[in-house]
Amino acid sequence: MPRTDAVLAEPRVAAAVARLGRELVKRSVVEAQARARAGEIPPADVTDAALAALPSAATSLRPVLNATGVLLHTNMGRAPLSAAAVEALAVAAGTCDVELDLATGGRGRRGAATIDALLAAVPGAAAAHLVNNGAAALALVATGLAAGREIVVARGELVEIGDGFRIPDLLVSTGARLREVGTTNRVHPRDYSSVLGPDTAFVLKVHPSNFTISGFTKSVDVAELAELAGDVPVVADIGSGLLTPHPLLPDEPDAASTLAAGAALVTASGDKLLGGPQAGLLLGGPGRGAQLVEQLRRHPLARALRVDKLTLAAAEATLTGPASPTRAALDVDPATLRARAARLAAALRDAGTEAADVASVATVGGGGAPGVTLESAAVSLPDRFAAALRAGDPAVVGRLEHGRCLLDLRALPPSADTALAAAVLAVRG
Ligand SMILES: *Cc1c(COP(=O)(O)O)cnc(C)c1O
Repeated sequence: MPRTDAVLAEPRVAAAVARLGRELVKRSVVEAQARARAGEIPPADVTDAALAALPSAATSLRPVLNATGVLLHTNMGRAPLSAAAVEALAVAAGTCDVELDLATGGRGRRGAATIDALLAAVPGAAAAHLVNNGAAALALVATGLAAGREIVVARGELVEIGDGFRIPDLLVSTGARLREVGTTNRVHPRDYSSVLGPDTAFVLKVHPSNFTISGFTKSVDVAELAELAGDVPVVADIGSGLLTPHPLLPDEPDAASTLAAGAALVTASGDKLLGGPQAGLLLGGPGRGAQLVEQLRRHPLARALRVDKLTLAAAEATLTGPASPTRAALDVDPATLRARAARLAAALRDAGTEAADVASVATVGGGGAPGVTLESAAVSLPDRFAAALRAGDPAVVGRLEHGRCLLDLRALPPSADTALAAAVLAVRG
């Protein structure tokens, strides 16, 4: 068995150490030695096996092809970034003029271009600020405007976001008090107006972004809330970061319409339907909304929630660049998906794999557009493929349905089809 030191000293391995770091490469060598000891590979192949098993970058994160048909999969990092956003990340990764005015040599306003891009993308927005995520935007609003005071919110909108995190708990943790109104299924304008008083900091409208309730229900929309609240600001947490209405998502609130309806502030996520990096959007309408954004931007907590230059760069490119992959997946013509599925299935059958193209139903997922279904198409494989594809490189995650492994194409760009076919052929065994 070749010694670990000796393998690490080989020129090809030393080059990998220089690129990826000693720990990662050493781990790969030790694993290859273990395989040789187990008789899986000849000892002479340890170096080749160790190099072959190395990741392409110094991260233990593995790329995954999202063939689940869920556009925004929380476990896969929600929105994939556009090529434009990835290029912007590379620029921002080095030293850059994030807070430098190259014309004067003096300090520049951090993130100004990203904020301008956001304002240009949301008609009616007069001010904007970015923080780390949607929860951070809510935390900043609650801390800055409601510590020691009351937030009025409907009982039916006390949402658990995921992984056990609950919006009401987040709000209370800032020192604000919740004034819950209505019942689980119904709330009326008078429920709100009867509790408004000198202690009210704001009225909060939360979009139930991951569930629907139907039947004997009633809620109060932002326009009605703004009307009855008068001088009290209405804050709307729209969740998904949809900036303007989308025809396929008629029930999903968007930032522009919500501001137009009279919300002073809108909060949202950057990595859901907006299709950008993880970020929290804080948008203010004209007048008081803009004042509140400015006040919150100067709040001490804002510094703790500040986004980094990478986020600023990727968000700007998402807003000004070509359609994000999420947007493209939402807008794709189902006929295109059917043609891709037919082509893929035929190619796999030609190679001797039992594959069929089938109709499929995709969803938005990730805290957006609950209940909305999107026509899609998939490649159907025997179910044993599911585990094998997950273990492949790149990993492919499909969906098990009626004893078949479906690879749904809605969340994947056409450019992924070659890699998808190769991944299936590599594991067909
Ligand atoms: C997703 C979501 C949040 C949390 O946003 P993060 O960006 O995950 O912190 C808050 N409110 C609503 C309505 C959401 O859908």
